[in-house]
Amino acid sequence: MTGSGSPCGACKFLRRKCVKGCVFAPYFCHEQGATHFAAIHKVFGASNVSKLLAHLPVSDRCEAAVTISYEAQARLQDPIYGCVSHIFALQHQVINLYLLYLFSCKFIETLIYLLLLVYLMVGFCF
Ligand SMILES: [Zn+2]
Repeated sequence: MTGSGSPCGACKFLRRKCVKGCVFAPYFCHEQGATHFAAIHKVFGASNVSKLLAHLPVSDRCEAAVTISYEAQARLQDPIYGCVSHIFALQHQVINLYLLYLFSCKFIETLIYLLLLVYLMVGFCF
C-alpha cells in the first residue's frame, strides 16, 4: 500500500489488491509505477522480480528496482543487447572524443612548430 489507500503501480498493473508490506510498493508509485512495471513484467515477470527484491537487503532494493526498470526498458527497445547497446554507444562516444582530443593535440603541436619555424625564419631575415 502506498499510504493513500490506492494500490502501488505494480499492483495496479497486475490488478490485484496491494497488501500492507507489498514488496513493490516503495518503488513503484501509483501514478507512474504502473507504466514502469509493465515493462518489467513483460521482460522479467512479476513473480521473478518479486522474489529477487524479497531476497535483497532492504537497503539495496531501491537501486535494484531502478536497475531492473532501466534494463527492462532497454530490453524492450533492443531485445538482443538491452542496456549493453547503451554501453557500446557510450564507449564509441568516448573513443571518438579521445581521437578528437589526440587530433587537436597534434594539430596544436604542429601549429606551434610552424609558428616557431616562421619566427625563426623571420628572425634570420632581419
Ligand atoms: Zn503493491
